[in-house]
Amino acid sequence: MNDMNIPFTRPWLGVEEEAAAARVIHSGWVTQGPEVEAFEREFAEFVGAPCACAVSSCTAALHLALMAAGVQSGDEVVTVSHSFIATANAVRYCGATPVFVDIDPGTYNLNPAMVERAISSRTRAILCVHQMGMPCDLAAILPLARKRGILVVEDAACATGSEILWNGQWEKIGKPHGDVACFSFHPRKLLTTGDGGMITTRRPEWDRQFKLWRHHGMDLPDSARHKAKQILFEGYAALGYNYRLTDIQAAVGREQLKRIPAVVERRRAMGERYLSQLASIPGIGLPVEPAWAKTNWQSFCIRLPDGCRQLDVMQRLLDAGVASRRGVMNAHEEPAYGPEDWSCGCLKPECRCKPRSCARLHESETAKTGCILLPMFHGMTEEQQDWVVKSLADSVRGR
Ligand SMILES: *Cc1c(COP(=O)(O)O)cnc(C)c1O
Repeated sequence: MNDMNIPFTRPWLGVEEEAAAARVIHSGWVTQGPEVEAFEREFAEFVGAPCACAVSSCTAALHLALMAAGVQSGDEVVTVSHSFIATANAVRYCGATPVFVDIDPGTYNLNPAMVERAISSRTRAILCVHQMGMPCDLAAILPLARKRGILVVEDAACATGSEILWNGQWEKIGKPHGDVACFSFHPRKLLTTGDGGMITTRRPEWDRQFKLWRHHGMDLPDSARHKAKQILFEGYAALGYNYRLTDIQAAVGREQLKRIPAVVERRRAMGERYLSQLASIPGIGLPVEPAWAKTNWQSFCIRLPDGCRQLDVMQRLLDAGVASRRGVMNAHEEPAYGPEDWSCGCLKPECRCKPRSCARLHESETAKTGCILLPMFHGMTEEQQDWVVKSLADSVRGR
């Protein structure tokens, strides 16, 4: 018997965040004000980006990033199905078609060898994902794109604090190495503002565009109107959206950002512990961290031994007080993705695609059903982690 009750994840929010939110509430300026600007500055500095624009979610960030890349109706965007559904949805918001390529079974990231044949004359962008915080192979993807004048959008939703070896230096994801990177501040990620997102880019003209689009296309920021000594009227030059982050959220985000170095350090230590302890369970597939990547272990994904049913293992873990999640989903397997809504880069008749299944996305499909995600959160103790490992060993043995 045990009295363990280990949650899958839990955000690290403290009195600092509480005080920051209270400070903004008492200030009377609660959205699109000085806290948002400060959060953008500090986040840009943290990832090493020239420009950052705070938005309401990573999904909003992806939508605007693809718009900036010029993605529109009739275009194609090469991406992965094996991701949270927001990745592919953002392509469809632009009226474009996501063209799905398969993943590498060790990193769960887009397999660059599959990208070339997915590119057509209609390809406008590559939307690559740093899945579960593991940097994707940008050094292989970028030359493929640059050669053809295709833009690269990074879905860095999970990758705050992840690093990539670039020209001999460790650099943060979000510099960005592609044209634009999009982050999420949902509670499942390392930094949370409840909901929220950030777009980083090296292009000041894109950053200006993002700041117009997120605020209804209004050509005069609230801050300019607030400071003005004469009456100013705003204009609306183009269709915009309400994708704003509030100042209350931004103030919380600034406190969360201060915690990130400690959070990443702790998660890396926990990741190392999982890797060494799980290696002794026969048949378990461990995640692969390439030599040029340092993950933040946003999620720790393992492949179950052959013959183990995902549902059975997860239920046995739950019975032992351990919450888990199945492997990352695939957009193309969901009812929201009808046959006309996506492509695998070949003509439908010649592809052996069935509805909601595709022979070319085999690794994506097996990762969803053959993997589980293990608990990991900042306050997790070594005792709790040992219990997860022990319970998993028992569960895969069918006990
Ligand atoms: C969480 C996540 C998103 C969506 O982020 P939101 O902030 O919830 O919109 C997009 N892509 C990936 C890979 C994610 O993990």
